[in-house]
Amino acid sequence: MSKKIVILTGAGISAESGIKTFRGANGLWENHPVEEVASPVGWERNMELVLDFYNQRRQQLVKCQPNKAHFALVELERQYDVVVITQNVDDLHERAGSKKVIHLHGELLKMRSSVDENLVFDCLNDIAVGDKCPKGSQMRPHIVWFGESVPRMEDAILEVSTATKVIVIGTSLSVYPAAGLLNYATPESSKWLIDPDTIYVPPVANLEFIQKKATEGVPELAHQLLQNENCVI
Ligand code: NAD
Repeated sequence: MSKKIVILTGAGISAESGIKTFRGANGLWENHPVEEVASPVGWERNMELVLDFYNQRRQQLVKCQPNKAHFALVELERQYDVVVITQNVDDLHERAGSKKVIHLHGELLKMRSSVDENLVFDCLNDIAVGDKCPKGSQMRPHIVWFGESVPRMEDAILEVSTATKVIVIGTSLSVYPAAGLLNYATPESSKWLIDPDTIYVPPVANLEFIQKKATEGVPELAHQLLQNENCVI
């Protein structure tokens, strides 16, 4: 169990569960410009629209199920120490059964105080204008918006820099600082990038690009890694 696999996931791994990616729609998130629904400025400008956007995402999420790619990553835990670092705000890794999941950009099923980011609560229902935290301020989605700091980044860097294998799945690697995580992997570690599109492949050592959908590429690679645990692949 000493071999650590770190998995970096983005919106693409949840695409086949029915949740739209972000870049796939010309930089719009479910038809909205990101600055409208995922920035502090957008929140100040129209709180009701932002709350409604995430309420809809939450309602959609509960109807979605993890797919074969999420489940294949859980299988790896039979033989490896697996840490999933995800940019996704859905809970499909957890529902599939992944034990260690770091959410870099927050979670849809949580909400937090708009004055104290450490006051975080479960959120299974809609958030409305007027829903207050114990300190008396408006509740907001527990989502890291563009321009805000990424509190779990240090944890993520530590995990990536101590991994023997790194698998990147379904991310355009265009949202920073998450996109820079691969640079912290050691040159010796084996790395794979799984994405069906012809995307930018970063120039890092030992990186193989698997041009397949997540539900195809991830189970295949997981099978290979479980079969060859003692081989250097
Ligand atoms: P992105 O939309 O920028 O990139 C998605 C990538 O997934 C693309 O490279 C695309 O080619 C690939 N892809 C599409 N279908 C795929 C499939 N079936 N299998 C594998 N890959 C597939 O996503 P990003 O890099 O994660 O950045 C988007 C940001 O928006 C993130 O910060 C995230 O928080 C947020 N977001 C989250 C969700 C979610 O939680 N599911 C959904 C949309 C956006």
